Amino acid sequence: MLIPKHLEEISEIIETSENNEVLKIKCKCSHTHFIVYEFCESDNANVKPGFNEIIRENDKLYLVKRNFFGKIVEKIECGNMFEKKQRRIIKVKCEKCGLEYVLFDNYKHGYDAVITQQESCASKNEITFYFKKAYSQPIEVFIKIYQDISYDQFKDEFENIDYSSYLNSFGNIDIYGLNPKLRKIKICSEETA
Ligand SMILES: [Zn+2]
Repeated sequence: MLIPKHLEEISEIIETSENNEVLKIKCKCSHTHFIVYEFCESDNANVKPGFNEIIRENDKLYLVKRNFFGKIVEKIECGNMFEKKQRRIIKVKCEKCGLEYVLFDNYKHGYDAVITQQESCASKNEITFYFKKAYSQPIEVFIKIYQDISYDQFKDEFENIDYSSYLNSFGNIDIYGLNPKLRKIKICSEETA
């Protein structure tokens, strides 16, 4: 079984095979309908209006704002914001009891997060995550986890890796919902390696 640690307590296995696992999310109160929220870095209003061009100066990238005559009037250093992965977090809130669970945070879960320590590129500043609803109504939520490397192969490649890190370093994740009409709602699909 390949259930990542953070999902263990809220997962019911629907399908299982050697390389993947389909989980149905179930609240600790045993309810199975959730409001799904998403935070996606590219949606975030970090970039102020009017900044629409990127320039390179002395090997640094800047977002710039030009005036009517094309002269640069303001610039913001981008640092390595274009080299790192855009952060994405999916969380759900139980329709019945209101408990919330993070299902996926690409800085904490998945191969890149675990192996290349993606979290170390996260901003040191306090970030407020503005979540928006991924779907308007409460839905049932399913997660498909893919892992094509065995724990033995993992241990050969990375010494000192424990089993829970292995479980957290899946290579691919699909999150989807089923609405009351049993229509499939795609929420997130990410390759994490
Ligand atoms: Zn609940």
